[in-house]
Amino acid sequence: MNFLSGSDSDLEIAVSLLMCGEVVALPTETVYGLAADATNETAVSKIFEAKGRPADNPLIIHISDLEMMKKYTEDIPSVAYRLAENFWPGPLTMILPKKNNIPSIVTGGLDTVAVRMPDNEIMKKVISMTGKPLAAPSANLSGSPSPTTARHVIDDMNGKISAVVDGGECRVGLESTVITFEGYDSVRILRPGFITPEQLRKVVDDVIIDKNISSDEVPEVNEVRSPGMKYTHYSPRARVVLVREGIEMFKKYVSEQTEQDSCSLIFDYDTENFPFKYMTYGSTPEEQAQQLFAKLREADRLGIKTLYVRAPRKEGVGLAVYNRLIRAAGYEVVES
Ligand code: AMP
Ligand code: MG
Repeated sequence: MNFLSGSDSDLEIAVSLLMCGEVVALPTETVYGLAADATNETAVSKIFEAKGRPADNPLIIHISDLEMMKKYTEDIPSVAYRLAENFWPGPLTMILPKKNNIPSIVTGGLDTVAVRMPDNEIMKKVISMTGKPLAAPSANLSGSPSPTTARHVIDDMNGKISAVVDGGECRVGLESTVITFEGYDSVRILRPGFITPEQLRKVVDDVIIDKNISSDEVPEVNEVRSPGMKYTHYSPRARVVLVREGIEMFKKYVSEQTEQDSCSLIFDYDTENFPFKYMTYGSTPEEQAQQLFAKLREADRLGIKTLYVRAPRKEGVGLAVYNRLIRAAGYEVVES
């Protein structure tokens, strides 16, 4: 595996590997992506192989300008252009009818394709230089926490892909908000992310939050609108227990547990007089988003077997953080 920097000469190498149908991990503002030329079926098949991703879990294609969106998708509603104007480049993914130039392996056989214009200088340059949409799911082994540093990518992908480009820590730290269009001026959020329902409501008349996002119940397989929702996600090796309590009840819960090698993951402002082993993951939802996956990976590195996580409120970006945590916890939630 080649370890590349964001220098012009290294990006030339990344681009030539992509043009030859190889897989290259690239930084984006959300998480690191495992990129391949989305128009090359063989190249895309290597992504599924490296990740061990189920073939029916479709990929997001990453574009660098709206011309690319028009070239590979059709029947684009006017609200999509309005959203693009407000949130692109950025962590918003739109599901649109695909044209035939996107092979069906990218979309898991669906006739729609997920599209995003990322906001990261390296990623933008590489897409423009290849002139192709890049299919890029998160660059982790399927089921594991997404990578937010090049080190995380190496831990999961060394020997399985051609190269990784080191772009430092990801600014957002969680995957994009995924939306689909339903009727006139109406969108449904299939996956919450850094772009919140409140932000979308400023641009779109009607914003529906899919039931699977807001609920603490395991999703019903036949009710899942986005194939990715039915798979295990974001899970470290450690057992994760999500605790929906204020800090005093959280301490009481932890004090009653008898597990060996356990640790708590709490907010920065919870640490005063906290009597148990702990790690922190920021104080605002934005900081929690940025740090969450790195802390889940850190727990594994430290050999922690059980991680008690203080749950954020499901508001603003907190909705997305909560969504990743409840899946990491396999829906194991505690509240009194
Ligand atoms: P990832 O590539 O890991 O960020 O995951 C992409 C997410 O987008 C998964 O949850 C997919 O199920 C979802 N997705 C991608 N394409 C589509 C599509 N055409 N329709 C519905 N959901 C999609
Ligand atoms: Mg992923």
